[in-house]
Amino acid sequence: MSASDRESRASESSRESSTTPEPPRKKIRFSTHEGPQIELRPITIRVGSTDDEFYIHEKLLRSTSSFFDNALKEGWKEGQGGIIRLSEVEPAIFTIWTKWLYTGRMFVMKDGDDRIGPDGDSYSGEWDRLRDCYASGDFLQDSDFKDATIDALVTRMVETDCYPLGLARYIYDYSNKGSAHRQLAIDTCVRVWDRDDYADLLTEDEFNNAFQPRQFLCDVLAKIGPNLETGIKEKDAGKFFDLNDTCKYHDHGSDKPCYKMKPAFNF
Ligand SMILES: [Zn+2]
Repeated sequence: MSASDRESRASESSRESSTTPEPPRKKIRFSTHEGPQIELRPITIRVGSTDDEFYIHEKLLRSTSSFFDNALKEGWKEGQGGIIRLSEVEPAIFTIWTKWLYTGRMFVMKDGDDRIGPDGDSYSGEWDRLRDCYASGDFLQDSDFKDATIDALVTRMVETDCYPLGLARYIYDYSNKGSAHRQLAIDTCVRVWDRDDYADLLTEDEFNNAFQPRQFLCDVLAKIGPNLETGIKEKDAGKFFDLNDTCKYHDHGSDKPCYKMKPAFNF
């Protein structure tokens, strides 16, 4: 089992919360010219090494993904017969992305995800899934989906009081310097990590490669340094993170709307 999906549980007493009830729908009536454009034919996408087929309306496909927007620019359709091949993304992760496109929600939980390894450490397959969502969001150049994946990561940390020790590895490989997403990995380490877990900062993988990204270690040191005199108190994830204030970990910046402010049918 790789170290990348090992998690640390800050509080053994906390458990994943039960499914939250659906919020009430606020609005039922809209203008006739609003809503999804479903008149156009869907595009066929063949995904993964198994060429699993997905059919998605073009307007929706291009609404948040620069990868698909570029792929579907004028002149493309005639040559390709309306089919896009996407071998770089796993069908299971593409399914999550497609459901997110249609609903704005992350369908990432699975029965049997949580387990205890032979070493006594706890693991969860959901962390792996969210890691793969983040990497695929980067490949598809969908910054809204990456922001939504960050929210799913924060929400899981808050609801379980666990955090993946490989969080920085998830994020740093697929983000640029200055990305607000990196701040989530830094804050989690500096403010939430159990202090005993700091021994893992310099852990190496089976190929003797540093497990934590070098830049992440520098960023953590830069965050800790100014506070050495006064100290930094460790907090449980549920107490440190505020689910109503996650935009500080989003990359949309101040000039673009958050994905949460966009209508559910954005095509
Ligand atoms: Zn936001």
